[in-house]
Amino acid sequence: MKNTLPIIPIQNLVLLPNNEISLEFGQISHALINKIEESFNNEVIVISQNSHSDEIIFDSLPKMGVLAKIIHKSVSASNLVRIELSGKKRVEISEYTWSDNFIYCAFDDIVDGYDEKENAAMMRKILAETKEYVRTSNYLSEAFYNLVSKINTLDQMTDFMAYKLPVTLHRLYSYLYETSSYRRGIMILEDFYMEQDIVNIEREIDSKVRKNLDNNQKEFVLREKLKVIKQELGDINVKDDEVEELRERIKSLNAREEIKDRLFQELKKYESLPSMSPELNISRSYIEWMLSLPWEDVTEDNHDLKKVKKSLDDSHYGLEKVKTRIIEYLAVAEKTKSLKSPILCLVGPPGVGKTSLAFSIASAINRKFIKITVGGVHDEAEIVGHRRTYIGANPGRIIQGMKKAGCSNPLFLIDEIDKMSKDYKGDPASALLEILDPEQNQYFSDNYIEEAYDLSRVMFVTTANYIEDIPEALKDRLEIVMLSGYTEYEKLDIAKKHLMDKICDSHGIDVKNVSISNQVILEVIRNYTKEAGVRELERQLANIVRKIVTDLVLTKEDDKVVKVVKEDLNKYLGRPKYRNLTKTETKVGVVNGLAYTYYGGDVLPIEVNYFKGTGNLVLTGSLGEVMKESARIALSYIKSNHSKLKVNYDTLVNSDIHIHVPEGAIRKDGPSAGIALTTALISALTDLKVEKTIAMTGEITLRGNVLPIGGLKEKSIGAYKNNVKQVFIPFDNLPDLEDVPEEIRNKIEYIPVKKYTEVYEKLVK
Ligand code: ADP
Repeated sequence: MKNTLPIIPIQNLVLLPNNEISLEFGQISHALINKIEESFNNEVIVISQNSHSDEIIFDSLPKMGVLAKIIHKSVSASNLVRIELSGKKRVEISEYTWSDNFIYCAFDDIVDGYDEKENAAMMRKILAETKEYVRTSNYLSEAFYNLVSKINTLDQMTDFMAYKLPVTLHRLYSYLYETSSYRRGIMILEDFYMEQDIVNIEREIDSKVRKNLDNNQKEFVLREKLKVIKQELGDINVKDDEVEELRERIKSLNAREEIKDRLFQELKKYESLPSMSPELNISRSYIEWMLSLPWEDVTEDNHDLKKVKKSLDDSHYGLEKVKTRIIEYLAVAEKTKSLKSPILCLVGPPGVGKTSLAFSIASAINRKFIKITVGGVHDEAEIVGHRRTYIGANPGRIIQGMKKAGCSNPLFLIDEIDKMSKDYKGDPASALLEILDPEQNQYFSDNYIEEAYDLSRVMFVTTANYIEDIPEALKDRLEIVMLSGYTEYEKLDIAKKHLMDKICDSHGIDVKNVSISNQVILEVIRNYTKEAGVRELERQLANIVRKIVTDLVLTKEDDKVVKVVKEDLNKYLGRPKYRNLTKTETKVGVVNGLAYTYYGGDVLPIEVNYFKGTGNLVLTGSLGEVMKESARIALSYIKSNHSKLKVNYDTLVNSDIHIHVPEGAIRKDGPSAGIALTTALISALTDLKVEKTIAMTGEITLRGNVLPIGGLKEKSIGAYKNNVKQVFIPFDNLPDLEDVPEEIRNKIEYIPVKKYTEVYEKLVK
């Protein structure tokens, strides 16, 4: 007959045979304990349940339990029963039943069919491992080994040990359900080995941590000792203090860890260099450079674009299209949370406000402003620095700029990108390309600094005078914004609304104390400046104000209002500096072209003479290659159309022709003088008079087609200044008239032409 005993289910706890556990029970189980005591000789089956549920489901109860005996019972004041159970043996359960509110189970003993020799060998092995284990482990002591060595059977030994080893609950269940003592022996060995591995790893971690600590402590102690020794010897020198100070500065530097590591390394090297070593200074400068760079410091942007717009309006007159483009650019940058859009490039003649606009953007969005000029740079190293091995090496201009900025997100203006050149020392444009490329500039590497410097937070703005001269690859990356020259009246407005205030302010005088009429300012613009922008105008007005201030100081009449009249200009500024080059009278062989030069637009009289010769063409007046070609094209066109143009072919062949464009000191180039050259030639060869109030601009082809030109606004301003009344322009330039100020459009008659014959016909009419 099968044995039957009540069960005590326990959760998250395992009772193995040959071990003891304590349990506490509340009210309900009182009866159960009493029953076990009275009817079952204190024997019970303990079921270790690997579950978290309070509910007992027969089917899910394990088919194995441990027969145990209550060896002690106590009842606490709060009526809690506490019992101690001693595990005896594993039993196999065949059935659970429910009766009188208790669960019973029917069970059989389990037979462990072991091999005696195998078990003996296993016991020996386990004992040996235990000995080793207690030697190395922190968990178990020698006493444990002594206890184990006294156990007689493998069955007892494995159960006893499993309970004492630092194994998981899950593993304990495996021990419980493993009925073969030999296999449990193997499990014990596995756990030993696992433990040994863990202990070894722990030891390794331990020693690493200790080593780190030791190293730091050792270094500190040694340094302190060294200091004391040096002090004793009276040998403490400036360098030691300096090294200490540098070490502290490196520690507090706001930079990536790798940068600091690099600096510590360099400092070590610096420290070890003898005081006479030439490398000492190089090393020291490098450390100083690295310490002075803003690696991670940033300023907070102002994202209020309305305010930005207002501040641009306040600081700059007109330029509506330009300002709108800038605001759009900032809006996109703000929306995409990156500056990965193309880089802004402000293109226009000098003095039209490119730099000051960039400065205004910076102050409006609350960024630091830095400007470098790359005009004239032909050595790549100027931009990306020299290697440290190079004598007198320094970082390039970009890194120098970043140092000046003092933060890693300034607005960085790169001026005159159209004036770089390349030579055997590399191509500065390609270096710039890398710097301006948002994909690459996060890891910008200066030859001197060597470590990657993150330029991706910088807002780059570039400027150029001529769009044609910007290297093609660079142009690709840029968002070009054109600023054209100003008309006289625009300049007048700028002078009154901006420049005078600014100048008076910087000269410490109230603008109300200087009374200067529009007429006088216009006089200054016409006779004392020749420029597309207002830089020279600003300088001349400053000259006037300076002289007024001097007078006021000398006469001590601080509050006097000084009126500047036209007649005073001679006194303030000397004789007028500029005279007009336009034809003063209508003459054969002279025709007005229009030019777009450094100074903005101007009239360019073209003179032609011919004399007996052999068909040679003489060109003077500092003409560039393109303009020389235009002259040759013009001549060929006339030769092939001589009868239509009423030019005597014999004269053409038997003469030398001389073309001259006055003001030889100024270099002139560009194809747009084509139709003016042609007309000047025809005028000379056919005695055709061209009125001095007529000017023309347009490129000519061999077939007499007139091709479009650039800078119509500037050229119109130039024509207007010089009293030109009619201007021939290429038909394709008609849309550009929109950019020409209305005051000029109203005064000048524009005649659009597609073919040269249209010009000719109009002139001979
Ligand atoms: P650029 O960089 O194009 O050569 P700047 O920015 O140096 O020209 O401008 C020269 C001077 O002219 C500056 O003092 C600037 O404030 C002034 N200026 C130019 N354009 C304007 C404008 N539209 N409104 C007010 N001031 C202007």
